[in-house]
Amino acid sequence: PAPAGLLEDRLLPLLRAVPDHPVPGVTFRDITPLLGDAGALRAAVEGMAAALPAGTEYVAGVEARGFVLGAAVAVAAGAGFVPVRKAGRLPREVLAEEYALEYGTATVELHADALPAGARVVVCDDVLATGGTADAACRLVERAGGEVASVAFLLELAALPGRARLEEHGRDVRSLLR
Ligand code: IMP
Repeated sequence: PAPAGLLEDRLLPLLRAVPDHPVPGVTFRDITPLLGDAGALRAAVEGMAAALPAGTEYVAGVEARGFVLGAAVAVAAGAGFVPVRKAGRLPREVLAEEYALEYGTATVELHADALPAGARVVVCDDVLATGGTADAACRLVERAGGEVASVAFLLELAALPGRARLEEHGRDVRSLLR
């Protein structure tokens, strides 16, 4: 894999800052230009895959951009892929975890039988902001009998407390870009 500085020089300019999205005062980081650039997509996926802990058996991707990256990272790493979905989308018995948003709550779900006992799982999403989503996804993996080996992001918004929150809960946070 390329050194971190080179990767950031190449990939960070492909993340578009969108002011006042989805609400006034929030700057949204749009990763779609990076996804559309074949070389950048490959570099991002290979970089994230190289950072997985040894022995990772499953990547649990969070709907929806965590599906795009997580599935590709799983293939690159020789792991399986497990979807963590928004409420009401999975067809069979689910486990559910609710987490707080700025206004209200959201729920993520995982098939109750998605993982064999003791499976080594990496939770994957595109962006780490407050950490609420990833935190809930980690709880789901553990309730399903898996072990959270690390939590992997394409981009960590370092001005927000997501890393601190996840580390407080004992998570090993690995982000490709900051
Ligand atoms: P958190 O739960 O506050 O850490 O927010 C992370 C979740 O919201 C992830 O599923 C991200 O996909 C999404 N998200 C938050 N901020 C951004 C952003 O600036 N760009 C893209 N996705 C974001």
